[in-house]
Amino acid sequence: MSASSAEHHRVVIVGFGPTGAVTASLLGREGISTLAIDRARDIYDKPRAIALDHEIMRLFDNLGIAAEVGRFVAPFPASEHFGAQGQLIRRIDMVGEPYPLGYTPSMVFTQPPVEQVMRDRVAGCPSVTVELGTTLVDIRQDAQRATVVLQQDNGTTRDVTADYVIACDGASSTVRQKLGISFDDLDFDEPWLVVDINVNAGGAGKLPKTAAQFCNPARPTTYIIGPGNHRRFEIMLRPGEDRHAMERPEQVWQLLSPWLSPDDGELWRAASYRFHALVANRWRQGRVLLAGDAAHQQPPFIGQGMCQGLRDAANLSWKLVRVLRGQSPDTLLDSYEAERGTHVRELTTRIKAIGRVICEQDPVAAAARDARILAEGGGAPRTITRQEIVPPLTTGLLASKPNAANGTLFPQPWIVSDGGRALLDTIAGSGWRLVRDGRADIAHDAAPPPAGITAVTIGGSGLQEESGVVARWFERHGCCAALVRPDHYVYGVARDAPELTALLGELHDRLN
Ligand SMILES: Cc1cc2nc3c(=O)[nH]c(=O)nc-3n(C[C@H](O)[C@H](O)[C@H](O)COP(=O)(O)OP(=O)(O)OC[C@H]3O[C@@H](n4cnc5c(N)ncnc54)[C@H](O)[C@@H]3O)c2cc1C
Repeated sequence: MSASSAEHHRVVIVGFGPTGAVTASLLGREGISTLAIDRARDIYDKPRAIALDHEIMRLFDNLGIAAEVGRFVAPFPASEHFGAQGQLIRRIDMVGEPYPLGYTPSMVFTQPPVEQVMRDRVAGCPSVTVELGTTLVDIRQDAQRATVVLQQDNGTTRDVTADYVIACDGASSTVRQKLGISFDDLDFDEPWLVVDINVNAGGAGKLPKTAAQFCNPARPTTYIIGPGNHRRFEIMLRPGEDRHAMERPEQVWQLLSPWLSPDDGELWRAASYRFHALVANRWRQGRVLLAGDAAHQQPPFIGQGMCQGLRDAANLSWKLVRVLRGQSPDTLLDSYEAERGTHVRELTTRIKAIGRVICEQDPVAAAARDARILAEGGGAPRTITRQEIVPPLTTGLLASKPNAANGTLFPQPWIVSDGGRALLDTIAGSGWRLVRDGRADIAHDAAPPPAGITAVTIGGSGLQEESGVVARWFERHGCCAALVRPDHYVYGVARDAPELTALLGELHDRLN
């Protein structure tokens, strides 16, 4: 029975997986009264995500957990794609040094301990209450508030109200279903078996030294080198193969026999998944917002699913904080879906295209594919970077005056001084920032920025960067000032003081 209650939080987060935990930290850092619940008591003890990127590491660093996460992380080496005849057809690598955001651009990680670090971070936020073993069973809302009906393990049920609810409750989101929000199917649905192995020294010695995509039409297979002795194989299942039968250890070792035998390590898990591409057709309904897998799922071919959820968290949190503090109208939250929904659809489309190449099972079409990809490289395997596959923001709260820089991630240089080196965010923070090129007149003659925006000058008589990352960025975009959002995306840029004044004025009007 549901008892009425006066329990109220500014925000209720449903689901305490990666998306929920990071959202809770971001709100907790700002002292927002938040209740985060999860129906499970424990972190899922098997890895699903294995790759993350520098944007996410920057977010972790902003939360003060990058060093702790770093214990479970290793660089993600180039993935070599082999065609139907075993020939190298292309590489997908990370961008080279100097790294644009200050961290290794592509990394592999071990999910369960990293999730624990995310949760531990929340424990340090006094404004956040975490309740595990608690399931959302219903949700309703009116103009004033949202009400969630929560059921604890022992069967007791209570109502809790909130100004906003964030549904981070994963792929089968109860909240999404209760709201009647459906998925747009972006037309990708393939069965894969995911196998994690802890290899011994003998096994490690037999395996390829870099990640690989075996685009063999008879059995498309992905190979990833995880941290330490963790290795992952993702193996496409063929039509008619029974997923449960394929998960059996003897069958798994049979599938791995081109590389490994049972003496070479221990199976951590083997589980089959349908790799699909789904995006919720609405991400907001009144006071309820969807984030993470609750809003979207994509095939894991460049390891972006969790990253996408954490981008949602970063995008939504700073906007929600402004709205809750009365600094911006509630309509600011509409830019969340506009920005993230468009971004997710574009990235999923690109991942799907990679997936189509990998999943080709017709030998004739696979041969044509290999020839086409090699031709695209001028007859030789070419290298593309994982970073160029991830698009910028293209819509939402971005300057009206077009520039290719708008919606891109502002770089993060190492700043050097007599005291040593430090990443820019540790000096300038992660709120709104106005970054000026110290070599340009604008560094001297522009008015101080409005309250709430941190000004920083790089180059000239300002901060000195180690590798010229920001200097080259200004040159590439033909500007000398950048207005950067709290999620590190560039709002807009200016070439001189009048343009900067106009840019700041426009932002003020749109935010307030
Ligand atoms: C095989 C595979 C490989 C992947 N590889 C990568 C990769 O390399 N890189 C990457 O970035 N991503 C990858 N992903 C995707 C990534 O794992 C997910 O995107 C990510 O875990 C989603 O996080 P989430 O917090 O949104 O959802 P989840 O992790 O699913 O968390 C949802 C939480 O909500 C809770 N919950 C559900 N319903 C309720 C309810 N009614 N009440 C209370 N709590 C509830 C659940 O218990 C759960 O803890 C991969 C996924 C798979 C399957």
